[in-house]
Amino acid sequence: MSDTKALPDTSLPLTAPFWAGLRMRRLMVQQCAACGARRYPAAPICEHCLTSGGDWVEIDASGTLWSYVVYHRGLARGFADEVPYTVGLVEVDGDLQVIAQIDAPRESLQVGMRVRARYTEVTETVTLLSWEPDMEGKADDA
Ligand SMILES: [Zn+2]
Repeated sequence: MSDTKALPDTSLPLTAPFWAGLRMRRLMVQQCAACGARRYPAAPICEHCLTSGGDWVEIDASGTLWSYVVYHRGLARGFADEVPYTVGLVEVDGDLQVIAQIDAPRESLQVGMRVRARYTEVTETVTLLSWEPDMEGKADDA
């Protein structure tokens, strides 16, 4: 991984529990204390009932590849030496969609395939999420 890649600030109060979860290899999302809606990415208020705050809950760190895109240009600083790379939109836990890089050859990807979280420890405080094919997961027949 490039030394010039910008790393996330894991100390921001809004998102710190998400990053702490990744360090423990757990995928954490916010859940509204009033209506129970879960949300990702983190936000100060619930988009369904506008209640502020909420709790953090762990969700199943696997899902279905909903769509993906292959980057052939390093649009962000630090990614130039990684092209081409793939970023996927993965539906997890029924209705949440989580975007992250995919660690798999583009030729092996199929919309609807099962994927699972992969946790890569970059520094003592930063662990990054990516997706990888879930060979043990069931095919999405629904
Ligand atoms: Zn709510």
